[in-house]
Amino acid sequence: MPRIAHWIGGAETAGTSGRVGPVFNPATGEQIAEVDLASTAEVGHAVKAATEAARVWRSSSLSRRAAVLFKFRELLAERSGELAQIITREHGKVLSDAAGEIARGLENAEFATGVPHLLKGSYSEQASTGVDVYSIRQPLGVVAGITPFNFPAMVPLWMCTTAIAAGNAFVLKPSEKDPSASLFLARLWQEAGLPAGVFTVIQGDKEAVDAILAHPDIAAVSFVGSTPVAKYIYTTGTAHGKRVQALGGAKNHMLVLPDADIDAAADAAVSAAYGSAGERCMAISIVVAVGDVADPLVDAIASRLPKLRIGDGTDPDAQMGPLVTREHRDKVAGYVERGAAAGATVITDGRTADVPKNGFFLGVTLLDHVTPEMDVYRDEIFGPVLGVVRASTYAEALALINDNEYGNGTAIFTRDGGAARRFQLDVNAGMVGVNVPIPVPVAYYSFGGWKASLFGDTHMYGPDGIHFYTRTKVVTSRWPDPGTSSIDLGFPQTR
Ligand code: NAD
Repeated sequence: MPRIAHWIGGAETAGTSGRVGPVFNPATGEQIAEVDLASTAEVGHAVKAATEAARVWRSSSLSRRAAVLFKFRELLAERSGELAQIITREHGKVLSDAAGEIARGLENAEFATGVPHLLKGSYSEQASTGVDVYSIRQPLGVVAGITPFNFPAMVPLWMCTTAIAAGNAFVLKPSEKDPSASLFLARLWQEAGLPAGVFTVIQGDKEAVDAILAHPDIAAVSFVGSTPVAKYIYTTGTAHGKRVQALGGAKNHMLVLPDADIDAAADAAVSAAYGSAGERCMAISIVVAVGDVADPLVDAIASRLPKLRIGDGTDPDAQMGPLVTREHRDKVAGYVERGAAAGATVITDGRTADVPKNGFFLGVTLLDHVTPEMDVYRDEIFGPVLGVVRASTYAEALALINDNEYGNGTAIFTRDGGAARRFQLDVNAGMVGVNVPIPVPVAYYSFGGWKASLFGDTHMYGPDGIHFYTRTKVVTSRWPDPGTSSIDLGFPQTR
């Protein structure tokens, strides 16, 4: 059985803990590899190598860092096809979708090539007579990223490109469900000229995560994953004195007003609900249909579903692949069962769909007449299940979204600019789409939700990423003109 190892000190490093986890191909259901699960001692060893590398890397010139980023970006673009294959094999998503996540990650590398500009501080000449004041941004040292299974390349790229450009050493703990993309990225960084130890991969589970959270030489932790774990990471990491940003789960609502273009809204709902089998934190899982738009909208969505092609992600005709594990597939199917039992109308039942029997496939489900008390409404299902809630007014629809535990993304579909603007003003969510169902911000903005979708106060990548991975130092400096110095015991004042 192939073994997926760590990447420490610039080389693949076999695990020594004696613990491994299984890695499956979700399209066949077969175990294809095992992944090392690091012990606390192995994490310590990796962080030691990273700490030494961080000392050297932080003093590298900005132009050298930008050059490495440019090269990394070029290699990633050249070899994205290979990486997409790796992602599809372990995650299950279709190849075009895997290529899509790499393309979005590539944008983060492009943003980070501008690091000389991004790290510029400010300068105030003559803040006091003969005194200048300036601010500089310095790296934190060793920072860690703990990432989810659903974007095995993009989410690590959100973090590592910015962290490394800012002069830190970055330690990645990827999901143990699809760990191979992390090693592919490690090799690209090496080929791009990044010194050994600046990018590290620790494969593992909770033991590795806990070792990261407690390690005194790790200054900051970025996390993306489910809300209960995000909360734990934030609480534990900050208790150990670390800077933490922890992005959690989501329940994204798409509000459709009566004046919306029904076909455009139905296309958007289908794409955003079932793309990547619903395993996206920005997936639309609830459509809130306002007024009399509900019946035609449900019909329009339902009419599109029989045409969706579900199959092995490597099949170029497939639009949707399997779910990541057998357990997750069964859990999602259980939600369909519970939704039906709670009184939702099952318009399309994914459990009875004609999908490949091997592998972790499930068809798409559409539930109408979903209400806020139902589990299918409240819980993040993270599968190809779309619920429709009917609301009489805009105010009722907005209250639903604002009362929801999560606040990651949301979208409004309307032809009315004034209504869209009011929604933008009123809605409690971190990312808002106007006739755009998955409003993932471009790399020069930052990504993050509100409420239980984010713990911490900085969003990820973009300007917030630079802020998170650096700390500011302000220097007050006096270089008196020759012959003008004198003794003054008073408190320094601006004169
Ligand atoms: P997860 O929370 O199970 O795992 C995320 C990471 O945490 C993995 O590396 C895993 O090994 C580790 N982990 C899991 N359980 C742990 C524990 N008890 N203690 C310490 N570490 C633990 O999430 P997942 O299933 O891999 O990913 C799906 C989730 O991620 C969904 O909830 C999705 O909404 C969320 N997500 C959020 C965003 C966002 O930007 N907000 C983006 C992608 C995914």
